[in-house]
Amino acid sequence: MARVAVIGGGISGLGTALMLGRRGHTVTLFEQEARQAGEDLDRDFYHWGRARVPQAVQPHSLLAPVRTVLRAETPDVYADLLARGAREYHEFDWFGEHPTHRAGDEDLVTLRTRRIVLEAALVAAVRRERTVNVRRGCRVRALGMEKGRPARVSPARVTGVQVGADTHRADLVIDASGRRSPVPAWLIAAGCRPPVVDSHRTGLAYLCRWYRLRADGPRDPGRVKTGSAAPFALAGVFPSDNDAFAVNLVLSTGDPTRGALTDPAVFEAAARRFPATAAWLDLAPEPQSAVLAMAGLDNRWTALADGAGPVVTGLVNAGDSLIHTNPTLGHGAALGLRAAQYLAAHVDQIAADPSGYHAWTAHALRPWFDAQVTADRTNEQRLAESSPLSDRRAAALAACAFDDPVIMRARAQVRHLLRPAHDAYGTDEVDRHLIAWLAAHPDFSPQHDGPTRDQWDTLVSG
Ligand SMILES: Cc1cc2nc3c(=O)[nH]c(=O)nc-3n(C[C@H](O)[C@H](O)[C@H](O)COP(=O)(O)OP(=O)(O)OC[C@H]3O[C@@H](n4cnc5c(N)ncnc54)[C@H](O)[C@@H]3O)c2cc1C
Repeated sequence: MARVAVIGGGISGLGTALMLGRRGHTVTLFEQEARQAGEDLDRDFYHWGRARVPQAVQPHSLLAPVRTVLRAETPDVYADLLARGAREYHEFDWFGEHPTHRAGDEDLVTLRTRRIVLEAALVAAVRRERTVNVRRGCRVRALGMEKGRPARVSPARVTGVQVGADTHRADLVIDASGRRSPVPAWLIAAGCRPPVVDSHRTGLAYLCRWYRLRADGPRDPGRVKTGSAAPFALAGVFPSDNDAFAVNLVLSTGDPTRGALTDPAVFEAAARRFPATAAWLDLAPEPQSAVLAMAGLDNRWTALADGAGPVVTGLVNAGDSLIHTNPTLGHGAALGLRAAQYLAAHVDQIAADPSGYHAWTAHALRPWFDAQVTADRTNEQRLAESSPLSDRRAAALAACAFDDPVIMRARAQVRHLLRPAHDAYGTDEVDRHLIAWLAAHPDFSPQHDGPTRDQWDTLVSG
């Protein structure tokens, strides 16, 4: 059984610690923040200024791997998540009646919930786990390294973490400290070969506002998609737990109207110009928050291995510190928990030699990072230049999915990280269905359903 130290108690750190602990390993989790998600979800969500985890208040869609990993590894946590108000949404729910079942359809489920609900369920489970010791309010300030090894030639070995004046020894340290991980800088300072970082800045800005449906008010927005688009902005609604939902706008960081949108009245007027978000605002919900903005995000892959193999042993990274994806596709928690599951299953080998873990991440996680980078390049350019939609096939597939379950299945398999796009969409069956749909919609041309730029500028400046 391994002794493991986990740096960071976010979704990835908590999930990894829990899954390791359940397999009998001895785990110590260090989290710099003293406060933890508890029983009062609204207080923790709306009234906890979390400068170190600013994404915590942004809307989240939890994709299929979150559900499948939790149900396989920690079914009690999954049940607790639902008991706390998270809701399952199957992609075929759009059609009312589901099509004839095919293997794998059962997994095409989004968990609709605020991130805090997942955190609270994980925190509660970790607290019950005898093998996991959580040390809150403890910032890891350095790594413990084996003495006397020429780090640049053969990899140095990490032997633990330093917290205050103490050194905590471990067979394996897992860096789950998030997108601002200090670990790469520590390794370089220790004389290791540098981690290989692939970083792409995305010029996208996110603005959201939280609402709650009134207990005595209307509750059904009707059969409306959760996303809409203008040439220069995307709008989305995130139905969540306990009648909470978020309205979200995404635009280029260079958009001159970005600042004005932090005014709730302007934000709401703008959101009302998109069918997806207007349908939910028409339910007269109660606002729960200010307009919460975030920008300046990267897509960043941080490999603790280079062409010559691991740059260090006794240490691996997981979650955002390994793969930080810009959130337009909502991959973060799913990729973090997939890594947690793999780490828990293979920890003894990884403690001895992390090469297998690095190979697995490159094979199982990296393609989703590359897909996000490609999607963001397209989105970023389109929003910055207000370009018209030009890819007729892609636009037709997107529209057709909401009429045809075969296309919806392919779309959902990609969205939920189950099949790459070229595989899911590249079948004869998808081609046949798309051709039939286009024949039935001869006038189809790619179109936005949001406002024009003139309408937008008028309402934002007015
Ligand atoms: C706008 C936005 C929207 C998003 N939407 C989605 C979505 O729809 N779906 C989805 O799945 N994901 C989404 N994400 C991504 C998701 O939030 C992240 O992938 C996820 O929170 C990462 O979890 P983590 O545990 O890896 O890191 P974090 O949650 O950042 O946790 C890291 C923890 O480590 C602690 N820490 C850091 N340094 C130290 C140290 N030295 N010592 C001790 N503790 C330390 C921090 O305090 C923190 O608690 C979104 C992100 C953003 C920004």
